[in-house]
Amino acid sequence: MTIAIVGAGLGGLALARVLHVKGIDAVVYERDASRDARGQGGMLDIHSGQRALREAGLIDQFHAIARGEGQDMRLLEPDGTLLLQEDTPDDAPLDRPEVDRADLRNLLLDSLPENVVRWGHAFTSADNGRLHFADGSGATYDLLVGADGAQSRVRALLTDARPTHIGQNVVEVGIPDIDRTHPALAAMVGRGNYWVLGNGISLGAQRNGDGRVRIGLSFYNTDEDWFSTSGIPFDDPAAARARLIELLPGWDSRFTALIAACDDSVVPRSITTLPIGLTWPSTPDITLLGDAAHLMPPVGQGANMALLDGALLGLALAAHPDDFPAAVKEYEREMFERTSAAARMSADMQELLTSPDAAQKLLAFFQPG
Ligand SMILES: Cc1cc2nc3c(=O)[nH]c(=O)nc-3n(C[C@H](O)[C@H](O)[C@H](O)COP(=O)(O)OP(=O)(O)OC[C@H]3O[C@@H](n4cnc5c(N)ncnc54)[C@H](O)[C@@H]3O)c2cc1C
Repeated sequence: MTIAIVGAGLGGLALARVLHVKGIDAVVYERDASRDARGQGGMLDIHSGQRALREAGLIDQFHAIARGEGQDMRLLEPDGTLLLQEDTPDDAPLDRPEVDRADLRNLLLDSLPENVVRWGHAFTSADNGRLHFADGSGATYDLLVGADGAQSRVRALLTDARPTHIGQNVVEVGIPDIDRTHPALAAMVGRGNYWVLGNGISLGAQRNGDGRVRIGLSFYNTDEDWFSTSGIPFDDPAAARARLIELLPGWDSRFTALIAACDDSVVPRSITTLPIGLTWPSTPDITLLGDAAHLMPPVGQGANMALLDGALLGLALAAHPDDFPAAVKEYEREMFERTSAAARMSADMQELLTSPDAAQKLLAFFQPG
């Protein structure tokens, strides 16, 4: 029986690894030409997903690359008022450590035998047990798992659902090697997450393992075409930074100094999600996992759910080695329930972040009563 996984993201690799641990072969087809073909983004906050790494036999290696101090948090209002500062003691448990996405992906990739991941294979379609790739090549499958992320092409084989815009547009910028280039800003951001919330805008800054501070400026209650009307000239980074500062009227000068210190990488990102509680009629030889199945607002659940999906599908297949359709059904039943709850929680957090008094509400969330 041939298991074909489309997508070498966190979910697809967790599945391949758990299958490997259980002695079951699988092939992962990945669009990118190599593991380094594309930047993998910043840090991930890994909590429930640690169970997947345990099932994959990789929890000790994970703890070695996880950053406990990344759990630090500072919450401020746009006028500069510090509402909350939490510093993680050195001996604190690694409940929600941050990990560099590239490090986590490399840990999973290195745990697989050579040739499990076939790079440069962009899936285009599937029919009658055969996969088709953009370069004209093909391959057979008995079970096809779509782990191909937010813009999944496998998804269309199971459901008409498509991601829709949720009124959030993010501009990603960053300061490289901040300790050396801007020590005062480095001390202000600290070792973990730095949040400024207010006026339908948020600034989230986060220190990465490589010394870069990544900054996401989110503009809430904005339309899908906001980037074209925002006046941000993405092809002129200095002018884009100046325009971003203009879009923060009344914000404390320490926050605008953060934007002024950024380098020339200015990346727009529109936020889309799939409907909460999306399901599809179970199909014996195709299923989905991760963002392909349940794309949520980026508030810290997506990677955890993708890792869990991969590991739990792997365990279900190992428990029913002669009956993949039964394994798929069992996996989907649990996955639909677990990820709907996570999507509902994420939507609630998203609503909180969008509200005019977001900082106070988040403070109450972290310090209930
Ligand atoms: C800015 C940001 C911050 C985030 N922070 C967190 C966080 O702190 N905690 C958290 O839990 N989640 C976080 N998330 C969400 C998390 O990144 C995703 O939910 C998670 O990466 C989904 O994993 P995946 O394996 O489903 O998909 P992906 O990681 O997107 O992997 C999909 C893979 O499929 C490949 N692919 C796509 N199309 C094809 C094709 N046609 N053929 C072959 N291969 C294909 C892609 O190249 C990619 O390698 C964040 C998301 C964003 C945008």
